[in-house]
Amino acid sequence: MTTPLVIATFSRRMALQLADGEQVMARVKGKRLRPVCGDHVDAEPIANEPEWLITDISPRRNELSRPNTRGKVEILAANLSFLAVVSADSPSPDWFIVDRYLCAAELMGVSAAVIFNKTDLAEPGKDTIDTLQDYERIGYRTLLCSAKAGSNLEALQELLADQMAIIVGQSGVGKSSLINRLVESADQPTAAVSEGSGEGRHTTVNSVMLALPNGGAVIDSPGVRDYAPSTDNAQDVIRGFPEIARFGIDCKFSDCRHLREPNCAVKAAIESGDISARRYESYKRLLNLTRQLTEGRY
Ligand code: GDP
Ligand code: ZN
Repeated sequence: MTTPLVIATFSRRMALQLADGEQVMARVKGKRLRPVCGDHVDAEPIANEPEWLITDISPRRNELSRPNTRGKVEILAANLSFLAVVSADSPSPDWFIVDRYLCAAELMGVSAAVIFNKTDLAEPGKDTIDTLQDYERIGYRTLLCSAKAGSNLEALQELLADQMAIIVGQSGVGKSSLINRLVESADQPTAAVSEGSGEGRHTTVNSVMLALPNGGAVIDSPGVRDYAPSTDNAQDVIRGFPEIARFGIDCKFSDCRHLREPNCAVKAAIESGDISARRYESYKRLLNLTRQLTEGRY
């Protein structure tokens, strides 16, 4: 039997999808319990009330988390199987953000793809094509598309089919536009739940899960705009860059951080062009962020 699934969060209130498909609003028991979109939970109806009460969270397969400003880790979504990072020519691409998300995907153990949106504005330049090819070389799927022109959206649809996906990226790259195009032909009972919840249409939704027409779902979370993975050691960062982890096996020191150590196979791979120098810069920046974070200065 499947347990109720959290499909939308409005601060401490949630929309749940029950095993039979029915959707209800719920409150959370106690302050310590913090369910997020994608969580499976234990829940029970409250006598004489339309709402349910969430009493426990099932163990998570993974969680997308980030450090918040108070030095604590904030969980944005749970039990994902896919992460799609969106970028575009406008606002100009910040590939370091893309790398941070891809690092998070690696740490969660989910597949990831890099989506380049707004191709209707201009043909992607050589730098963009080269960068996307670097991602392909590492093993990430990449895709050029336009939410506005509707181009290549079937390919995106196929990529996300049957996944529990989250769409992330800088503000303004077109995440909401892509999600709207993707889900327009699917049944969206979630909207009914939020409207019927008495919260009104325009209450801030923390995040919401939307069904995809080919099966699976995509999570839209405003929290994902500014992002750094909550890495707390160099080994995490290395695992977050698969090509660095791969070449790093041949370094002289097994705990090589690929900075100034002698006989570093990663440095050699950058020299020979097997590892992109730009990705290596991202790796070093994230290593620095991680150091600041663990020293409480982030
Ligand atoms: P988000 O912040 O990533 O969710 O981005 P939005 O979906 O809100 O889009 C930001 C702006 O980019 C809006 O003005 C959209 O109309 C526009 N936009 C989104 N996708 C495309 C696209 O494929 N082409 C063009 N030209 N504009 C787009
Ligand atoms: Zn090394």
